[in-house]
Amino acid sequence: MSAALKIDQFSLMDDRECDARITAAKAILGKRLAILGHHYQRNEVFKHADFTGDSLKLSQLAADSDAEFIVFCGVHFMAEVADVLTFGQRSVILPDLAAGCSMADMANLVKVRKCWDEISTLLDPDEHVTPVTYINSAADLKAFCGSHGGIVCTSSNARAVLEWSFARREKVLFFPDQHLGRNTGLKMGIPLDQMVTWDFMKPRGGLTDEQIKNARMILWKGFCSVHQMFQPAHIDNFRKAQPNGLVISHPENAYEVCQKSDFVGSTEYILRTVRASEPGTHWLIGTELNLVNRLADEMKPRGVTVQFMSPTVCMCSTMFRTDPQHLAWCLDNLVAGNVVNRIRVPEAVAEPARKALNLMLEVVD
Ligand code: SF4
Repeated sequence: MSAALKIDQFSLMDDRECDARITAAKAILGKRLAILGHHYQRNEVFKHADFTGDSLKLSQLAADSDAEFIVFCGVHFMAEVADVLTFGQRSVILPDLAAGCSMADMANLVKVRKCWDEISTLLDPDEHVTPVTYINSAADLKAFCGSHGGIVCTSSNARAVLEWSFARREKVLFFPDQHLGRNTGLKMGIPLDQMVTWDFMKPRGGLTDEQIKNARMILWKGFCSVHQMFQPAHIDNFRKAQPNGLVISHPENAYEVCQKSDFVGSTEYILRTVRASEPGTHWLIGTELNLVNRLADEMKPRGVTVQFMSPTVCMCSTMFRTDPQHLAWCLDNLVAGNVVNRIRVPEAVAEPARKALNLMLEVVD
């Protein structure tokens, strides 16, 4: 082991040199290394991934991996999940520690505990409410769910997880994404007036006692800033230009966008559906730009056109922080025997978080 290389030595390196260093480091590290790339990752990084997928697929890949080093080209909560599911026995590395998720940051343990306590003045939440956290959340919120009979979900399995939850308790507290909760609840036939929004900035969520007592779902008022860019008017305009076109959206989009879409599903679902379409199909897609651009390039030779839903560029700016410079920096450090930017979840948090994650993995198996 030599002294750790500093990121400053890489910050001004051009992408081509970074590519060469990444390729060389991968060859040296061989099977000791697995690079995971989320679908929203930029091309310059995505192309180096050994495995690609959405949060669910990548968390399963991490759990099954034998690699000593898991370099997660995604955001912070994903690296935490990989550490939790591998019992801290692998070195899980996030190339840039600033790669967080603005939606995940909208809920934290203090606010969720406060919400739980406020609900408990009306009913016993441990008897009547299943806490469900979207995987886009900090490990301590997954631990909260694991400690209170709750579970984790992703956009791929939210419906199965909610069915599991309602089979146990009559209400669900869903955080941090109100839209995934609402869109999934609607698909299950839960009326809008039985899904209330918990405004975490207001006492008792800004809700009356009656609203809380009558709700089947209490939805945390969080959202993804990327998916909020898509508007129903974008779909109306597309339909005027392409009357036979098809619209597919991610469930992190607003209810009004999902209602106007022909298909709604996770990134893996979007990829599967568009890849299976006939030549001549025109698609409008409401999810992150990097995924849409790659899919457009892939489908073009097959006579399928893919259009991004928003007229303005909107990509996940936190995911974008992971660049070839940071990837080259952490891989060169691994070659030199230094582990940088390792993500570790303390076992006291990891154990109940793992419980909630494993329940999710059992529900979807
Ligand atoms: S796209 Fe939205 S939900 Fe996904 S990581 Fe980025 S900010 Fe978070």
